Amino acid sequence: MSNCAIVGINWGDEGKGRMVDLISSDYDVVVRYQGGGNAGHTVINEYGKFALHLLPSGIFRQDVVSVIGNGVALDPQSLIEEIRYVRSKGVQLTPANLKVSSRASLLLPWHKELDCLEEQRLADKKYGSTKQGIAPFYSDKYQKKTVLAGELFDEKAFFEHLEGIMEWKNLTIEKVYNAAPTTREALKEWYEAYCVPLMPFITDLTDFYDEAEQNGKNIMFEAQLGSLRDIDYGIHPYTTSSSTIAAYAPVGAGAPALRLDDIIGVVKAYSTCVGEGPFTSEWFGEEADKLREAGDEYGAKTGRPRRVGAFDAVATRYGVKVQGATAIALTKLDVLSYMDKIPVCTKYKVKGTVTDKFPFPSLLDKSEPVIEYLDGWGEDISGVRLFEDLPKAARDYVLYIEKQIGCFIKYVSVGPERESIIIR
Ligand code: GDP
Repeated sequence: MSNCAIVGINWGDEGKGRMVDLISSDYDVVVRYQGGGNAGHTVINEYGKFALHLLPSGIFRQDVVSVIGNGVALDPQSLIEEIRYVRSKGVQLTPANLKVSSRASLLLPWHKELDCLEEQRLADKKYGSTKQGIAPFYSDKYQKKTVLAGELFDEKAFFEHLEGIMEWKNLTIEKVYNAAPTTREALKEWYEAYCVPLMPFITDLTDFYDEAEQNGKNIMFEAQLGSLRDIDYGIHPYTTSSSTIAAYAPVGAGAPALRLDDIIGVVKAYSTCVGEGPFTSEWFGEEADKLREAGDEYGAKTGRPRRVGAFDAVATRYGVKVQGATAIALTKLDVLSYMDKIPVCTKYKVKGTVTDKFPFPSLLDKSEPVIEYLDGWGEDISGVRLFEDLPKAARDYVLYIEKQIGCFIKYVSVGPERESIIIR
């Protein structure tokens, strides 16, 4: 048995879905263990192009079992719509190859609404939420004001529990935000439309993992977002509300005692960030527009233009450490082919002092980038499949990044398609 986590090292959108789709051929089980429908993992393969939100990126491999663990914000509507869409593209999805933990808490109809209401209230101080209800969901989960997927099997008890929470939640919706309360009828409709079709997939994962272990199955854990958005280790308060780090993978997956053998950190060859918060190596104006267009940097879930900038080695070093990465997948190297000189942010200047350490979150907006320039290679590299066939300047760039971040770059991705990969 060999277990591996694929995690984001930076702000998210590093290309994790693309790497899971590639590497999952060596694994029997792929598990999503945190986050929710705010994810947008892009996968391009023989079935087409997908932006997966809740489904693990291993679902396209028929011999892989996909699992949604207890750490995920389980939105029945989002998941059922996604299952229907993926099936419509010819992918077989049944309770045999998709399993949802009975211990996962349900993202409830008011979570999305509260997300929107709070962002509206914050106005120009908003956190940049994707409005998928993630923050209200996790705060209610830790207040124990959610219902578990396994409760769906006893309809009467489920509604009793849910209506108690609804009454409590309506106090906030009506009295704090002056908005319309959720009704019993709306809950019933939601239940029929999305919870009933979800029930065949819901299962207790304990026996499943025990069996997998006994049969020597290989398990892959697929993370959402990246180190810098982690609730504990990220750029507070511009983080997500869950643990995006590898150490949480077994807990959120439903197999807390499992050990990870490999942790593959996914890193983009330049830096991007969606939403609000400090981003030290950010570019603006024409230079930013050019990189955004070259890399097609628009959010997979929201379509929002991503903020772009020079490769941030300071943030990436920190991200590698937080994840405990054992190897790196460097994605989108092909996007940099148009540049004559490639800037890399190697250090920060924080209140006049130069440092190579990632600062405490409240110091980030006082940080300036210290930039070094490397030679560009000026030719298309998307067809290259062997490291030694890359132009020298491209190889030098990869080796320079490797030295800067202190971790072996095992994979170099030179295009979004499954086969556009160099394995070292
Ligand atoms: P994830 O959330 O970490 O899975 O990343 P996203 O799917 O949000 O964003 C990554 C984007 O980069 C997607 O549009 C991918 O198709 C694309 N992509 C991934 N790897 C490469 C690559 O090596 N080259 C290019 N040009 N695009 C890539």
